[in-house]
Amino acid sequence: MVINDGFIFTNQVREYCLENKELKNRDNSPSLNVIKSTGSIKKVTYNLSDHIALIDILSVNITDDRAILNYISKYGPLFLDKNRTDNLNEVSEEVIDINHIKSNILLLQCLVNLITSLQKQDDIGMVVNVAFLLLTKTPLDERYAVCFRRWFHDQRKDNYLYIYGESKLNQYIDYMITLLKNKSQKFWLYLPEYDQCLSLINYINNCFDVNFIEQQNLDSFHTNVINNITRFPHEALDILKSVCIYTIETELNNSLYYINPRIKVMSNGKLTGDWYISDLYIALCLDIYLSFASDKTFRKCINPTCNQYFEVDPGDTRKKYCSPRCAQLMAKRKQREREKAKREQDKCDTI
Ligand SMILES: [Zn+2]
Repeated sequence: MVINDGFIFTNQVREYCLENKELKNRDNSPSLNVIKSTGSIKKVTYNLSDHIALIDILSVNITDDRAILNYISKYGPLFLDKNRTDNLNEVSEEVIDINHIKSNILLLQCLVNLITSLQKQDDIGMVVNVAFLLLTKTPLDERYAVCFRRWFHDQRKDNYLYIYGESKLNQYIDYMITLLKNKSQKFWLYLPEYDQCLSLINYINNCFDVNFIEQQNLDSFHTNVINNITRFPHEALDILKSVCIYTIETELNNSLYYINPRIKVMSNGKLTGDWYISDLYIALCLDIYLSFASDKTFRKCINPTCNQYFEVDPGDTRKKYCSPRCAQLMAKRKQREREKAKREQDKCDTI
């Protein structure tokens, strides 16, 4: 028997374009940006073990709709359209909600950042990424819901959809806290981590500006956390670490559940082993698993105008740039700054 251990993943891709169109979301909020295609479907195949699809999604700037479009056009959509058939020649309209894709790209980025923050024991990174994973607005799909979101998903009678759809994030947090206080203790017997998440969200809401999470602005929230981290109490840091570990495990294991080994039998009796992977989102979670299982980690290029991630060994502290191009660019920039400083110094000296 031969086992296909290359983790070759095949997705379906079309030519996509951005379009403004009113789309009804499940929480009834209108979404104006959609990615639309009516073109014919092609197959795109890539090897998960080289991590390129993952590195490229980490490097997507989610405030740039065109960057999201480029990713989808290259690798195919993160999720397969349920109405889609396997008939590759069929020409039917496909509409993808860009906000849905954005939330899920952000979730994957936060998940990888959270793992690297935990590896480095970086409290600021952990706060930022746990906060985004717990509180970023995503369509209610049980598979991506972490902690609270999963719990609310099971409690639809509490009208969570309406509350989150209509209110601001801090109102939503207040609402969650009152709701959870009124719940009988027996809920927590099965789900002890909610108790911890509740306290953590409370601390985060008191110390930092959650409006940046509402706007999905990771960089500004990061700066806000750096400026206010001294206000974050010690007991909150202990909860942070346990929630961090729980979140990584639940998010990844919930996705890995959808990957199964398969067997193919040829007419000559030969057996081949393969893996069934339901969609690209799940494939990327497998990619995260494969990277960290083989002791690799990801780092963002320190050129401030570059968003590119690259793969490194965790112990490697030398590699700071994604490419020689970025290293040269930054060296030139530093050189110009030194020359400018020297010219100003000379000017002062002559006066
Ligand atoms: Zn770079």
